[in-house]
Amino acid sequence: MAGEPQTDCLFCKIVTGDVPATVVRESDTTVAFRDINPQAPTHVLVIPKAHYPDAASLAAAEPLVAADVLREAGQIAVEEKLTETGYRIVFNTGAGAGQTVFHAHAHVLGGRGLQWPPG
Ligand code: 5GP
Repeated sequence: MAGEPQTDCLFCKIVTGDVPATVVRESDTTVAFRDINPQAPTHVLVIPKAHYPDAASLAAAEPLVAADVLREAGQIAVEEKLTETGYRIVFNTGAGAGQTVFHAHAHVLGGRGLQWPPG
């Protein structure tokens, strides 16, 4: 059923604690943890606890939880002191856009100059 944990999903296992992660924030609906392969001095992933394959399907099914993900991303930017310099929130969607883990997640990237357009 939509939103249910998936046994073969890496990020569902981070939600349950079966896979360890450096968690920086947690709410009733979200978990945020440091990316294992950081692309910037700050690189945190914010995920919904519920399983949806990408951000668009999360927003369609549970828009309030999608808003929670964005709010948590903003809080991380404050805590990591990124608001003066700017930061980026990225949702890679689909393999062709670089998505490798098919559990919705926001990348919060900052702490260095960020180019536009991204590669
Ligand atoms: P995507 O490529 O799907 O947009 O982002 C997935 C992200 O998950 C990548 O940036 C990758 O480095 C990160 N990642 C993959 N496996 C793990 C893991 O086991 N732990 C953590 N903390 N991050 C992971």
